[in-house]
Amino acid sequence: MTETSTLHFIGDDLALDFINSAYGVGDAHRDHFDSGDGVVAWMEAAGLPVSRLDADGRGRLWMAARSLRDTALELVEARKRGERGDPAALNRVLSLGQACHELVWNDDGSPSLALRQRADSPEALLLPVAEALGNLLAHVDFQLVRQCEGDACTLWFHDHTKAHHRRWCSQASCGNRMKVAAWRARKRG
Ligand SMILES: [Zn+2]
Repeated sequence: MTETSTLHFIGDDLALDFINSAYGVGDAHRDHFDSGDGVVAWMEAAGLPVSRLDADGRGRLWMAARSLRDTALELVEARKRGERGDPAALNRVLSLGQACHELVWNDDGSPSLALRQRADSPEALLLPVAEALGNLLAHVDFQLVRQCEGDACTLWFHDHTKAHHRRWCSQASCGNRMKVAAWRARKRG
């Protein structure tokens, strides 16, 4: 069972929080997307609508979330390096949000064009995340998208502070820890 209290919503950006659902290195590595239930718990904590999904739907959502998260991290890291990433998996999720016309036959046998909203699959529940990721990549100043400077901390955030001097996932954890470490190093000379 995923503890909501251990979920990190420190990114100030939905797409970065999504990436932050897996964090830490080595033995400290944690992944909240360890099952379909884990993804649902994260989405509920993020305030995203999750329709009632059966076991099969949860399985599909799980696969889609893992794949979108891999892509999100690749795209963000590439963008940080000033390189182009492959947006295919992102664009696939984005395409689920498009309404499309479909030719259907009416009861009387006449044809008509019906507008179909395709956002009804488990994968389409990730649309808000995909849209946030697209917006982040296309519209946000990437100087302000950074990783926490804490040792072995992998959490990402969008620095919304006025002075743009945010360095930590949180002042209380990494900020404090690194300050203590710096103080000890100075003391040692
Ligand atoms: Zn940190």
